[in-house]
Amino acid sequence: MALTIGVDVGGTKVAAGVVDDRGTILEQVRRPTPSTDPQQTAEVIAEVVDLLKGKYEQVSAVGLGTAGFVDETRSTVLFAPNLAWRNEPIKQKVEDRVGLPVVVENDGNATAWGEARFGAGRGHDFVVLVTLGTGIGAGIIIGGELYRGRFGIGAEVGHFRVVPDGRRCGCGNRGCWEQYASGNALVHEARELARVSPAMAGRLLELGEGRPEGISGPEVTQAAREGDAAALECFGTVAAWAGQGLADLAAILDPGLFVIGGGLSDAGDLLLDPVRAAFERSLTGRGHRPTPQIRIAELGSAAGIVGAADLARL
Ligand code: BGC
Ligand code: ZN
Repeated sequence: MALTIGVDVGGTKVAAGVVDDRGTILEQVRRPTPSTDPQQTAEVIAEVVDLLKGKYEQVSAVGLGTAGFVDETRSTVLFAPNLAWRNEPIKQKVEDRVGLPVVVENDGNATAWGEARFGAGRGHDFVVLVTLGTGIGAGIIIGGELYRGRFGIGAEVGHFRVVPDGRRCGCGNRGCWEQYASGNALVHEARELARVSPAMAGRLLELGEGRPEGISGPEVTQAAREGDAAALECFGTVAAWAGQGLADLAAILDPGLFVIGGGLSDAGDLLLDPVRAAFERSLTGRGHRPTPQIRIAELGSAAGIVGAADLARL
């Protein structure tokens, strides 16, 4: 059986799995991402790969899905707004350590590939996946192929500007979509609400142990599930930005299906319903054109691992 290892390198965790050619994860391990030292991150990746490789001798290659702008040779992370990597030759570093061929892929691309092959996008040829997490990642599949752009760094949809001179972004610009429609944006809304209108945010503050800064994304989702009005309002705000952004993407790309993944998608219909409503309000030519479907990702946090592993096989 052909096996490969997929590694999802995120801002908070490094998650790796041994995956077979049907997209099934046979075994998984995770480690926290070392905070700011790029060298240490490479070592953690090598460590988890070694561990899995030691147990499964048939492993033939490694796919790394990582946040950031990955160059066209799929070797170097040129820049990552939310990680410490700058011009990081990560393919070489990990290959030297583990002795297997390594393919590097943007995390949004890897997730999109995983969902398109084995998850919510199965059977669709024109799919745009967006992950709403720390930032916003994306993968664009056109005619069954990943679209990477001329230099490998296409589909950076988190950085299209939705608010001129808006909130600052890790990429150096202001007003990027990921500052308004990501998981981090949800936390930003909830904390601001708790600071400015504590009387409205009783449940959120309780979950954050009395401090606006203590409120986390999963807690906002929990409160929204309980029906808390303040949490639902935060979801409404972020979902409206998300839906409007998807409508703009539809104007450019005309996909048949949008898939929404990332931490925010754990909220399911609490997110999807207001996203769809905002999408329908904003879509250009609405009422006079075919409308793409919008679905929640099916593979959850495993999609990045499965997609990266599958891309390492190609
Ligand atoms: C980065 C992307 C990444 C996304 C999700 C964005 O800020 O620019 O490369 O895919 O975050 O991690
Ligand atoms: Zn940006």
